[in-house]
Amino acid sequence: MKIIPVPCLSDNYAYLVVQDGRAAVVDPSEADPVLVAIEKAGVELVEIWLTHHHWDHVGGIEGLVDECRIEAVRGSAYDHKHSRIPHQTVALSDGETFEFGGAAVDIMEIPGHTLGAIAYVTEGNLFSGDTLFIAGCGRVFEGTMEMMSQSLAKLRDLPLTTQVWCGHEYTVNNLRFAKTVEPDNPDIDLALAEATSARAEGRHTVPGRMDRELGTNPFLRFDDPRIARGRDPVASFTAIRGAKDSF
Ligand code: ZN
Ligand code: FE
Repeated sequence: MKIIPVPCLSDNYAYLVVQDGRAAVVDPSEADPVLVAIEKAGVELVEIWLTHHHWDHVGGIEGLVDECRIEAVRGSAYDHKHSRIPHQTVALSDGETFEFGGAAVDIMEIPGHTLGAIAYVTEGNLFSGDTLFIAGCGRVFEGTMEMMSQSLAKLRDLPLTTQVWCGHEYTVNNLRFAKTVEPDNPDIDLALAEATSARAEGRHTVPGRMDRELGTNPFLRFDDPRIARGRDPVASFTAIRGAKDSF
């Protein structure tokens, strides 16, 4: 399996998941960059996987369905029920597994950013959409703070070597914020230095890795006693998310 990030719009990432010359695309914000990427990779695009229904993740579906022979458009059962992913053909629920080119792909429901948010996990790769970013998390639009914190707690139980492929390139800003939460955490300084030079050189900061996220991402560390400082986990998460909203 090969994963190819496809930058879209100003800071979105779509991803090609390639198996034996056949590709799925995760969260195509727009069709054109994806069409260029499949041409360049010499692969056939056959599936579209959506983490949630926001326009900056589904905007390319229409154009890809027109241009390619798409066999499946996958998204959550919730988004299917609310008809909010164009051309969706498969409705996925928590714990379900499907096969893509011989690889098992597991679905995790991770509501909070939206109520229909799901993650795709396959061969040590996590496609986390706008729920888990490198060193950050998405805004809580449709769910509750408790729901979002539980979804992130679910993701952090994945293996330490899990590669994190997220929906946006927000890493440098996220790490600057993380530093305000934990000014004395040297892992954040190191990650910030690396991310800053990566961006200066025009490189992506994806994939992240779960072990580093556990040490640097305040939204996975909300219940660490050094951060919670006596607050209950949800109150701690709510305070950090609130501070990030106005950072
Ligand atoms: Zn979103
Ligand atoms: Fe987004």
